[in-house]
Amino acid sequence: MALTQRITCDVCPKVKGEANHWFMFNARARDITFEPWQSPELEYKSHACSEACCVTILSRTLSDWGRSGLREA
Ligand SMILES: [Zn+2]
Repeated sequence: MALTQRITCDVCPKVKGEANHWFMFNARARDITFEPWQSPELEYKSHACSEACCVTILSRTLSDWGRSGLREA
């Protein structure tokens, strides 16, 4: 019996299936890292199902940085 772990995209409501085209990412206060899906999932807690969702995360993080004044005006 395979261990079933329900993994959902952090952006859209997709649930990960057998296909392995997902990405993992870590968004931190001053840093964001994307990686292709790997198993085991290492320290990555966040998951994105597609390039489009990665772009959404990136854009959201960049605006958060802008709002929190980390970026020079
Ligand atoms: Zn998604």
